[in-house]
Amino acid sequence: MSTASINGWSFASVSANASAHQNSLKTSSTLRPSVFAKLESSSPSLPRLIRDEPVFAAPAPVFTPNLREGMSKEEYEKAIVGLQKLLSEKGGYGPVAAAKIEQITAELQTTDTKAFDAVEKLKTGFIRFKREKYETNPALFGQLAKGQSPKYMIVACADSRVNPSLILSLQPGDAFIVRSVANLVPPYDQLKHSEFGAAIEFAVLHLKVENIVVIGHSACGGIKGLMSIPEDGTTSTDFIEDWVKIGLPARAKVKTEHGSKPLPEQIVLAEKETVNVSLGNLLTYPFVRDGLVKRTLAVKGGYYDFIQGSFELWGLEFNFSPSVSV
Ligand SMILES: [Zn+2]
Repeated sequence: MSTASINGWSFASVSANASAHQNSLKTSSTLRPSVFAKLESSSPSLPRLIRDEPVFAAPAPVFTPNLREGMSKEEYEKAIVGLQKLLSEKGGYGPVAAAKIEQITAELQTTDTKAFDAVEKLKTGFIRFKREKYETNPALFGQLAKGQSPKYMIVACADSRVNPSLILSLQPGDAFIVRSVANLVPPYDQLKHSEFGAAIEFAVLHLKVENIVVIGHSACGGIKGLMSIPEDGTTSTDFIEDWVKIGLPARAKVKTEHGSKPLPEQIVLAEKETVNVSLGNLLTYPFVRDGLVKRTLAVKGGYYDFIQGSFELWGLEFNFSPSVSV
């Protein structure tokens, strides 16, 4: 029988052999569930299934090959020869260094030296962040260790090109960010899309953000999907079209007012109009309305055009703030 604990709940699975062994000790066999759970009297602070250690750590500076992006094939081969020479002399190196040299040599000898290494990219990315941002800004990260007090809640599309922190130069702690396909905010409904309600409630009532900004963007696949749904409303996806239908009022407005324009132009208009739909949907949340009435909260729309390299920001139609373009 193996056991594990999650948040104080102990789970045990009984293997066939263990069951047989247990049964052999009993005069009569009984059927038992293969998995059971009980609340332990002393709950551990950390679930034992979760490793309390980093998935990867910065490697010790065992050996740093002279490699850089854009090296020619000849330069790589030269580097391999150098490493192999080092390897042949590994008597002078400890086993860890020798293993590291061997690993680097093997990696270099792969035919595609530019093969994408998903783990390596994350690892080097984190190491760079830690060295260049985290370790150079102890005041900020020391403060963030105690808590967060972001001024913004931002709703942006999940699109890989529209990272709000990057395009608006936001620092950790500046914004509570929720990303959804086509940056859509569903209307208040405790039985549907409640993850959005939870995020808005947390941001407004607990973090007390002062601004909610919904950001649309150019070339949005979600909005293209919304504008491409057949008139009869039939859908062919499990989730996507049902989700983007939140933007149907925007689609209807664009089709009514600009139906004669080519579809690509309608899509651009809809990319902005759906932001307004999301802003309208935000008003269906009572705590958002309350914040607006008390003037502790402002709601804004934004549009990032990564083709033109521009950003627009506007208030609600009754304008709490003037529109600005960059
Ligand atoms: Zn998008």
